[in-house]
Amino acid sequence: MERDFFCIADNPENYHECFMRGLKKRNPNEKEFHQACDEIAKSILPFLFDNPKYLEEKVLERITEPDRIISFKVNWEDDNGNIRTNRGYRVQFNNSIGPYKGGLRFHPSVNQSILKFLGFEQIFKNSLTSLPIGGAKGGSDFNPKGRSDREIMRFCQAFMIGLHRHIGEDVDVPAGDIGVGSREISYLFGQYKKLENKFTGALTGKSIEYGGSPVRTEATGYGLIYFTKNILEHRSEGLKDKACLVSGAGNVAQYATKKLIANDAKVLTMSDSRGTLYCENGFTGDLLDKVIKIKSDGGSLSEIDDSTVEYLEGKKPWAIAADYAFPCATQNEIELEDVKELIGNNCKGVFEGANMPVVTEGIDLLQEKKILYAPGKAANAGGVAISAIEMSQNNVGLSWTRERVDTKLQEIMKSIHDSCVEYGSDGDFVDYQKGANIAGFKKVADAMISFGI
Ligand code: NDP
Repeated sequence: MERDFFCIADNPENYHECFMRGLKKRNPNEKEFHQACDEIAKSILPFLFDNPKYLEEKVLERITEPDRIISFKVNWEDDNGNIRTNRGYRVQFNNSIGPYKGGLRFHPSVNQSILKFLGFEQIFKNSLTSLPIGGAKGGSDFNPKGRSDREIMRFCQAFMIGLHRHIGEDVDVPAGDIGVGSREISYLFGQYKKLENKFTGALTGKSIEYGGSPVRTEATGYGLIYFTKNILEHRSEGLKDKACLVSGAGNVAQYATKKLIANDAKVLTMSDSRGTLYCENGFTGDLLDKVIKIKSDGGSLSEIDDSTVEYLEGKKPWAIAADYAFPCATQNEIELEDVKELIGNNCKGVFEGANMPVVTEGIDLLQEKKILYAPGKAANAGGVAISAIEMSQNNVGLSWTRERVDTKLQEIMKSIHDSCVEYGSDGDFVDYQKGANIAGFKKVADAMISFGI
């Protein structure tokens, strides 16, 4: 089979078709990765045709090929003495503007396609933060649900045996993602430290007492709402009294909900993999605390005991009428039918806390109807931005105050917003997808060109 691909076309549409044909041939059966590349290619190709040096240098073809993919065996022992085997991965996608950086995901759905899509998106997201970090992602098909604390510890230790030789503060700095929170980062870092016999900032998302940054835990959810406020302010609108749908009940969803409540928005829902918790009058801080407690104990939202809520078993939030939607759970959680329902209910904006939560046809429909759409690579970049701030603090051996980090997060989200406006404006309308993709691409592409091939 022909593995190389080389496109010559005289317009963006034909180039896109040829490019995607080649990409699918090189990466068979990787539908999530195809989806992420298709979305970027479609949106930046007109810009590449206006700036042909990027086409001549074949930057699109080069940027969609990871620098390397590391895959390793993870053997560990469960509490009953059974030997278990999982697969670990690290996709080091692009280090043109800084060391590889991106989260680790522990979830049974993890496979190479999902990690390639996430690593690819991470290149653009990290570039948008204006901080010197390249793109990567990793994880395992290990399912942490129902596992004891000791089992989690043994799995993390075994995972790091496979990973440690490939990471380091100037090489690749992993962080958390789905299934990897501060407990897992601590076990991973503890093992890294033993194996390497050195204390360096090779992971972010660490606890404050051993080199973590204030606000890192909150940064993705808070950043999402800061970004949303920038968008709304740009249109002389605000969040006050706006009905909002949040999906997910994990890290991103919890802090997005907290910030929405602080901005007097009315959060109608949170959800998990089993159903949706609906609160007609809007979530209060007390109700959110109950959600956080249940989820940290490994429970389900169906167990919440509160007279103000209704639990919708097996349902997603998107059929409920609201002004704005904040998908904060996982990829492709908003399907085309959900988008139609949102639009039918007069939803005015979709702001992505999760990575790639809206299917391609859904994004196309939102764009066609000129509904506000904030892509995850811009809207959820707050987490990785504060991870990079954690790296800076570790490098100079200093700790910033909470206020200083929070102010920095707000500045970064504002600067991402301004980049989107710079590259995505068409008259009064701002296409945040186009703006984020071009701004994120340009910086990395220029660095790649300056290095030669
Ligand atoms: P968590 O593991 O903390 O929470 C994930 C939440 O999503 C849980 O409530 C989970 O439900 C729910 N969920 C997972 N899979 C599904 C599914 N298939 N259908 C419905 N619900 C599902 O993860 P995070 O909050 O950290 O991450 C959420 C999203 O945000 C991901 O896309 C992640 O890549 C992205 N992101 C996270 C960042 C971070 O800093 N954490 C940074 C940037 C992006 P249950 O509890 O039942 O498992």
